Amino acid sequence: MKKNLQIAIDGPAGAGKSTIAKAIARQLGFFYVDTGAMYRAIAYKALRLNIALTQEEEIAGMARQTEITLEHSTARRVFCDGLDVTEAIRSPEVSRSVSIIAAYPEVRERLVELQRQEAGQGGVVMDGRDIGTYVLPDADLKIFLTASSEERARRRWLELQRAGKELSLAEVQRDMDARDHYDQQRAVSPLIPAADAILLDTTGLQIEEIVDRILSLFNDKVEDKVETGYVRSQNQ
Ligand code: C5P
Repeated sequence: MKKNLQIAIDGPAGAGKSTIAKAIARQLGFFYVDTGAMYRAIAYKALRLNIALTQEEEIAGMARQTEITLEHSTARRVFCDGLDVTEAIRSPEVSRSVSIIAAYPEVRERLVELQRQEAGQGGVVMDGRDIGTYVLPDADLKIFLTASSEERARRRWLELQRAGKELSLAEVQRDMDARDHYDQQRAVSPLIPAADAILLDTTGLQIEEIVDRILSLFNDKVEDKVETGYVRSQNQ
């Protein structure tokens, strides 16, 4: 039976997950799956429909009926019920709301199902919060990326500045810390490293250094598996 190779990248907000995951996917010719975009799309839809974020059942029902598509071409557009929401899901309002709906078990169930379907399509680099612990527990390589809270906030603030969003650095840091805290404390699939994840602190490192490090870890893992016959038998 063929097994598609999988890389799971988890970590808190602003740790560099998506930039790094995209670069790795590009180099390996794998799909990149941004699971945060899926949670953001549901939060965005709830805001647009004026559904109170505390209405767990209503939000879960809405999530079950929502179609989310992640484009795999380089533009990587995100569609929610056919509507292009790529930019809209990055708004500060969505960032402040998303952790609330992401804590609902039925929302997670629906999105994890989509994420596993995506992973079935070929070699994949998937980033999020629970990829190594829950979504892809047998991933070939699991990375948990971190960086100091100050550096993560600064990176996110620069991103928002570039997108024309005028928030102060202090506001960005406060929102991000609150979101991480919520993600770490929730009962279902909290943000924690998988037992077999490799922890990488990216504070002060350049993107290329981190990407090279992860690619070399991946090559070592795959080589180990070829030696033990794992990849050969799984890929036949
Ligand atoms: O990755 P990103 O920052 O866009 O994720 C937005 C939010 O979506 C996270 O703060 C978290 O609440 C939720 N999320 C999650 N599980 C994932 C990915 C994201 O709970 N696998």
